[in-house]
Amino acid sequence: MLNGEKKITRPLRWAMVGGGRLSQVGYKHRTGALRDNTAFQLVAGAFDIDPERGKEFGVHIGVEEDRCYADYKTMFTEEAKRDDGVEVVSIATPNGTHYEICKAALEANLHVICEKPLFFTTKEVIEIKQLAEEKGKIVGVTYGFSGNQMLLQMRAMIEKGDIGDIRMVELQYTHGFNSTDEADKFSDAQKWRVDPKIAGPSFVLGDLSTHTYYMSQLIMPDMKISKLLCDRQSFIESRAPLEDNAYVLMHYENGAVGRLWTSSVNAGCMDGHRIRIVGSKASLEWWDSKPGELSYEIQGQPAQTLIRAMPYLDESCNADERLGALHVEGLSDSWANIYLKFAIAMDAKNRGDQDTLDHLVYPDINAGLEGVRWIENCVRSADQGSVWVDFEYEEAKTQ
Ligand code: NAD
Repeated sequence: MLNGEKKITRPLRWAMVGGGRLSQVGYKHRTGALRDNTAFQLVAGAFDIDPERGKEFGVHIGVEEDRCYADYKTMFTEEAKRDDGVEVVSIATPNGTHYEICKAALEANLHVICEKPLFFTTKEVIEIKQLAEEKGKIVGVTYGFSGNQMLLQMRAMIEKGDIGDIRMVELQYTHGFNSTDEADKFSDAQKWRVDPKIAGPSFVLGDLSTHTYYMSQLIMPDMKISKLLCDRQSFIESRAPLEDNAYVLMHYENGAVGRLWTSSVNAGCMDGHRIRIVGSKASLEWWDSKPGELSYEIQGQPAQTLIRAMPYLDESCNADERLGALHVEGLSDSWANIYLKFAIAMDAKNRGDQDTLDHLVYPDINAGLEGVRWIENCVRSADQGSVWVDFEYEEAKTQ
C-alpha cells in the first residue's frame, strides 16, 4: 500500500510547459506529481502561450516569479545555469508542439513526461527514443487512467490463466461532448483538436483511444495485433478529415479478435471507458465509472465483483493502493501512481539501476511509440476505404 513515504532519495526538481490557467489537463499533472510531496517539487514553468498570463498563473500556484518563464526555450537555457535547475519537465501543450519541446528538453539534459498522443509519426518517436537513450533520460507518457491498480489485477489474473486463453477483446472509450459543433467554434481546446496541423492525423483515435490501446497492452503484454481494419467518420462534416467516431476491428497473432469503439459523438454518454477481456473460461471487465471494481465472470458460476484494497487481490494490485477499503478513489489516484513511477524511473536512470527499470510497469516512450503506431495503422486502414491492413510494426510505409 502507498502512504506517501519516500520511494526515491529526494524529490526531483520539476517544471511544466503548458498546463496553464485555461488548460484542461494541467491540474491533473500537478495533482498527480505533487500528491505525495516526495517524488516531485514544482520549481519552474512556462505555463502558457501567453507569457503574462503564464507568469501570473505560476506565481498563483506557488512558483517563484523569476522561475516563471515566457517560453520553454528561455526556461531550458536559464535553468541550465543554476545549480538547483530543473531535472525533469512535463509537456502539457497541444499535440503539434510535443515533438519540438521534447527534443529541446532532452537536448537540455532533462527527463521528460509528455502528453499523449506523443508525436505525429512513429518516425519522430523513434528519433526521440534514440536521443533519450543517448542522453540517458526517461520519457514518460501520461496515459492518465493507466495507473489504476485494478488494471494490474487484470494483468495478474490473465497471466495466471484465470480466464483461460484470450479469445475476444472489447475496448471502448467514448463520450458525447462533441455531438454538435458548438465547442469547435467556441472552445480553444476543441478548436485545435480538429485542426490536423495541431492535432495530427486523427481526432478521437489519438485523443481517446490511445489511452485504451495502451491500457489493453498493459493488461495483456503478450498480445500483439497482426491486422486491423479501421472505419472512421466525421459526423460533424467540418471536422473532416479528422474523425469524431471510429470503429476498429483487430486480429491478434494468437488468433484472438478484438474491436474498439472510440467516439466524441456518443450523445448522452458521460463515462464510456470500458475494457472487457473474454477468455476460454471466464471474462474480466473494468469501467472507468467504477474504477475500484472488476467484474470476474466464470462461465457457469455466479458473477463476482472484485473490490479494490481487499486481501484477495494480487500483491501487484494492492501495492498501488492508496486509500484502503471503504474509501472511494479514481482518476487522481491513477495520475499519482503514474507520476510516482516516472520519478522512480528517472531516479533509477540517474543511478544506472537497470534492474529497477526492467521491472517497472509504467507508460514509457515505448508506450508513446505504440500509441502513435496505433493511430498510423488505423488511419492507413480507414483512408484506403476501411480495408484490412497488416499491422505494421516498422515505420509506416507512407512516411
Ligand atoms: P488546452 O488547449 O486546454 O491547454 C493547452 C495549454 O498549453 C494552455 O495552457 C496553453 O496556453 C498552453 N500552451 C500552448 N502552447 C504553448 C507553448 N508553446 N508554450 C507554453 N504553453 C503553451 O489543451 P489540453 O486539453 O490541456 O491538452 C493539452 C495536451 O494534453 C494535449 O496533447 C492533449 O491530447 C493532452 N490531454 C491529455 C489528457 C490525459 O488524460 N492524459 C487529458 C486532456 C488532454
